[in-house]
Amino acid sequence: MPPSGIATSDRIDSLPLPIRHADDIFVDGVWTPADSSERRGVIDPATAHEWGSVPIGNSADLGAAVSSARRAFDRGRWPRMAPSERAAVLRRAADRLELLAQPLALTNTLENGTPVAESGGGATNAASIFRYFATLAPLLESDDVRPAPAGTHETLVRRDPIGVCALIAPWNFPINLVVVKLAPALLAGCTVVIKPASLTPLSVRFIVQALTEAGIPPGVVNVVTGSGELGDQLVRHPDIDKVAFTGSTEVGRKIARQCGELLRPVTLELGGKSSAIVLPDADLGVLRSALIRSTLRNTGQTCYISTRILVPDSRHDEIVATIVGTVAAAPQGDPLDPATVFGPSASVAQKESVLAHIAGARAQGAHVALGGDAASMPAPFSAGNFVEPTVLTQVSRDMSVAREEIFGPVLTVLRYGDVDEAVDLANATEFGLGGIVFGGDETVALQVAERVDSGSVGVNFFASNHAAPFGGRRDSGLGVEYGPEGLHAYLTYKSIHRRQRKA
Ligand code: NAP
Ligand code: MG
Repeated sequence: MPPSGIATSDRIDSLPLPIRHADDIFVDGVWTPADSSERRGVIDPATAHEWGSVPIGNSADLGAAVSSARRAFDRGRWPRMAPSERAAVLRRAADRLELLAQPLALTNTLENGTPVAESGGGATNAASIFRYFATLAPLLESDDVRPAPAGTHETLVRRDPIGVCALIAPWNFPINLVVVKLAPALLAGCTVVIKPASLTPLSVRFIVQALTEAGIPPGVVNVVTGSGELGDQLVRHPDIDKVAFTGSTEVGRKIARQCGELLRPVTLELGGKSSAIVLPDADLGVLRSALIRSTLRNTGQTCYISTRILVPDSRHDEIVATIVGTVAAAPQGDPLDPATVFGPSASVAQKESVLAHIAGARAQGAHVALGGDAASMPAPFSAGNFVEPTVLTQVSRDMSVAREEIFGPVLTVLRYGDVDEAVDLANATEFGLGGIVFGGDETVALQVAERVDSGSVGVNFFASNHAAPFGGRRDSGLGVEYGPEGLHAYLTYKSIHRRQRKA
């Protein structure tokens, strides 16, 4: 922790933040004053200090953004350019974005409390997503001619951009979760309207800046800030052709209902409640080194992390001691300090929700092995949303904390007898997003990983891969992002039948 008593104004005023108060939306390639005069503050969750603001867009703002994207799609150059030319723009944008890494990281950290150790990698990660999708251009350019099996004719299969896309993102990774939609959408030739989360409305501007500097044509990318209600209007807008959403299962279900009625394609990346199965032969050194990143990343505010730790009866106490020791040793404090591992929760509502989950667990008989309360911090952090990193043991499968997403710095430990019971426990939630198997024999661990019913599982660590599909089963979502499979979500197919060409 830095010395107590530093004034919040001193802390933030001196930082190189290029944008604090915005009164505009991004339409037709320029930041344009919003029609709405309503504003929402941007609040540092570590100190409760309001340091920025943005418009709460109204339906006129939304209409302007969607019309801009529609025009750019129907009449603009972008969908008609060669995919390799679009890829070149994505590569240039990646280079520009990396130059913006520092102000982007500071902005992100002051919006949602993500420690700079994490947000500092945001620009590089986003750049690598742009570069990865740029490598897929040949997939769109290759001629796909398929002879009819009956030998009567042949068909030219075209992969057309799906159209104008609504991209709706949550606050936990405000750059990554936009770019993972934006990069494939742009490579495909789509145009987009982005609605960032209300807590994180400013950091997306660095992506816009990078793309503008890279020469993206006006109208291809549009941004409107505003509430969930504006997100709902965007989903239902008649000029939208596809919706890509990351966020809660509750809102995802609402969006799925709207898109079902409209027959509008939709990709949903939703909540998770993943398990780390610690096999009896697990190396506890491996568990210790992977634990924070794979179970508590971003102060527990990551969708795929394995916050349910399943431990064998035979090694219960030893493994709990390793978990408690590792979590207790990770520093909590100012997210601007590069040494900080645990920052604040992103909002007051999030902090209260996490504390309510812990209180519910206590009432249902769980044991608090570490933490369990709001963290007491020195000024100015005493006003922030800090929750003590918490480990709950004696958790049983029917407790709410074993089934519901907590989205805070809280681990739950459940015991198992044999491996079949561990797999059964891992699969006993409504979600199916991530998971890990820790085991000394990686062949056996892989066999266990294959039995976990989820979209992604790691063996002895967890890391997603831009080239591999990422998505959830059951309540964790519909469809996938990343990989060629993620690009397909932004394409629509057209089969042109013709007489067979003579060789
Ligand atoms: P959220 O409340 O569902 O909000 C997500 C986004 O949707 C925000 O931009 C929100 O706007 C907007 N929104 C709210 N109501 C809407 C509606 N009726 N129609 C259209 N848009 C609407 O989620 P969150 O609290 O920001 O994020 C946390 C959740 O995201 C967690 O459940 C987490 O697991 C999930 N998540 C999933 C993944 C994944 O890849 N599967 C990744 C990260 C996070 P406002 O901010 O203005 O309300
Ligand atoms: Mg929310």
